[in-house]
Amino acid sequence: MKIAIAGSGAMGSRFGYMLQQSGNDVTLLDLWPEHIEQINDKGLSVEANGEQQFIKIPAAFPKDVHDTYDLILLFTKAMQLEDMLQNITHLLNKKTAILCLSNGIGNLETIQKFAPKSPLLVGTTLWTSELVGPGSVILNGSGYIEFQAINNVSHETLTVINNTLAEAKLNPRESDNVLLSIWKKACLNSVLNSFCTLLDCKVMDLNKSEYVPTLTDKVVLEFEAVAKAKGIPLTEKLALTAINAALAPDQAGDHYPSMHQDISSGRRTEIDYLNGAIALMGRELNIPTPANELITELIHAREEVTLK
Ligand code: NAD
Repeated sequence: MKIAIAGSGAMGSRFGYMLQQSGNDVTLLDLWPEHIEQINDKGLSVEANGEQQFIKIPAAFPKDVHDTYDLILLFTKAMQLEDMLQNITHLLNKKTAILCLSNGIGNLETIQKFAPKSPLLVGTTLWTSELVGPGSVILNGSGYIEFQAINNVSHETLTVINNTLAEAKLNPRESDNVLLSIWKKACLNSVLNSFCTLLDCKVMDLNKSEYVPTLTDKVVLEFEAVAKAKGIPLTEKLALTAINAALAPDQAGDHYPSMHQDISSGRRTEIDYLNGAIALMGRELNIPTPANELITELIHAREEVTLK
């Protein structure tokens, strides 16, 4: 397949690398000049299991490519999605499928605004990756993709995309309610990412505080109320099961989650697409969401005092 990765940071580079290794024609699209320059000059540095390789893979600004792609994999942070879509409008058409696996609530609606006629698939992924500098990623562990065709996707296109992801060993699984998965993951991130960022701690350290379970309940119950009003079957039980599994001593990582890393490197966070999305919908639907509202404001305050 001819594939463009739109947003080739940690995850986009990982997926681009894996899709290229399995024989696809992949181009990394990005808006960070040093990143593009580094990849084109030296190759993408990929470190896995302690070994570093430099992979020759084309990288470009979206405005400089005019090919027709079979698939565009959108992998920006949620708050960068609209900007990226504006930059790739000339690549969007009825034939080019779009797959978005970024975290956060609201990505689907944003893509539909820009690409109403495109074959569209969305999902979540448990793969991880770390961008350690321009042109350089570290690949950790393994994962899978859960995805669903949303609109304009023919059976043939779905099969080809599924096979392509499977051949790249990305472990795709088709879901029959991907919105539930997206909301469940957003709820998990609204606890783990937001709490670790506000408390300046690693995931496993959340277990040290007796306040965390009470705070978690507040966030989760507001998610449940808003989800119910939106017709998403996310329950307190489903959300807490996912959160408690991630906080179990043998699972809770000795690492700072990505939102904490964004703040530490002076970058904006995805908060408006996590707790902030629930606070916004709560206001629109007249559902009280004070916990998510306060967390959103506190994270924005942290962004303002630490932004570069
Ligand atoms: P990322 O921050 O690595 O990259 C996103 C975009 O930001 C890319 O276009 C990248 O080039 C740009 N960028 C990154 N650092 C920059 C810098 N210093 N200066 C200028 N531009 C910079 O994001 P990601 O980790 O790949 O995440 C993409 C999506 O996937 C997000 O929604 C995230 O929540 C989700 N996700 C990430 C992981 C992970 O392990 N990284 C795992 C699962 C899901």
